[in-house]
Amino acid sequence: MSAVTGGKPAMRAAIVTAGCRLNQAESDALSAWLRLQGFTVVREPAEADVCYVNTCTVTAAADRSSLQLVRRAAGRDGTRVVVMGCLAERRPERLREIPGVSEVWSAREKRRATGLVPVPVRSRPLLKVQDGCDRGCAFCVVSRVRGAPVSVDPDRVAHAVADLVSAGHCEVVLTGLNLGRYHHGATRLAGLLARLLCVPGSFRLRLGSLEPDSIDDRLVEALADERICPHFHLALQSADDRLLTAMNRRYGFAAFRRLVGRLVRDRTDACIGADVISGLPGESPESAGLTHERLAELPLAYLHAFTYSVRPGTPAAQMPGRVPAHEASARTARLRRLSTEFGRRYASRFPGSVRDAVVESDRVVVTDNYLRVRLCEPTAIAARRNCRVRIESMTASVSAPLAALVGLCQEENQ
Ligand code: SF4
Repeated sequence: MSAVTGGKPAMRAAIVTAGCRLNQAESDALSAWLRLQGFTVVREPAEADVCYVNTCTVTAAADRSSLQLVRRAAGRDGTRVVVMGCLAERRPERLREIPGVSEVWSAREKRRATGLVPVPVRSRPLLKVQDGCDRGCAFCVVSRVRGAPVSVDPDRVAHAVADLVSAGHCEVVLTGLNLGRYHHGATRLAGLLARLLCVPGSFRLRLGSLEPDSIDDRLVEALADERICPHFHLALQSADDRLLTAMNRRYGFAAFRRLVGRLVRDRTDACIGADVISGLPGESPESAGLTHERLAELPLAYLHAFTYSVRPGTPAAQMPGRVPAHEASARTARLRRLSTEFGRRYASRFPGSVRDAVVESDRVVVTDNYLRVRLCEPTAIAARRNCRVRIESMTASVSAPLAALVGLCQEENQ
């Protein structure tokens, strides 16, 4: 670690990130740490003296794309390459073999460099408040490389939120590997939210992915607060109880349906998304059909559908009943079509309405309920600021899971 980080103050560093929001949050924190070490952080790896690659290993495809990012970075003459993240935890020897890789960081080294509060590098800054998980889901390799749950002190999180709000941010996204397992002293996630909502200033909190069984009555009540974005991403995985049990999930579909009902009752405009895995060993055509049928009846706004891939060392890798790859992909494609329908149906409710939004660029804002709105006219309101948009209509060329809408930037709030 010291060979690279003891660099000259003028050295330039770039960070390349694969994977989820948690990785992005850690890369943002790494960026802050590098600046403190005297590095200039640049966007383009080609301009950097040192390139940090933060890897992912959630699926075989994530492994491949992480390896590709490492090879691309390591192929540049004169650039030192430091690899970190979940694939570096799981396969450090594989990464060390790649010519041009200078260092592969352990979890401890990564924690040292990413334990800081991130500098506000994006319009909607990501704040990591939790890491690790002990639930032991049969398919999950990430919890196995990230270790036991740990949570950041609520006072420290509150200071970070206060700093971000003072820097002009009107939305902060809380992330964690299993955010619902946030637990520091006597404070659970609902208590953390109550604490953060006491921070002075006008801002919203958005929550990252939540496991359905971690949402108890107290948390449902906390999520009803208007200062929590009405956007809830739930890690469902399947609507077939037999498969949920095989995955070692701790809820059934009926409980999930009740949860969605409660969220929608409290926040009628809630954008609710769900993760779904297709092709888990033992998923029969009937199971896949049941999942599709049950999901189609729910008031969801999108699905994050992905295909199961074998992760060595997980219980699911030993489960019988492998689903052929082409069949698993076809099931994922069907779920993605359903997601597109959800997106259209959800977005079609909002033309004519006015929503709070964060400016991402002069042409794009993201609303509290997670609609990405393309503006009719470029806005002069600076990125990261709060605004109100009147949603005019849906565009014809919708390719995103949530329909792009044409809106008009109306006023600035602060
Ligand atoms: S709850 Fe989520 S992070 Fe934890 S083991 Fe299960 S899938 Fe992995």
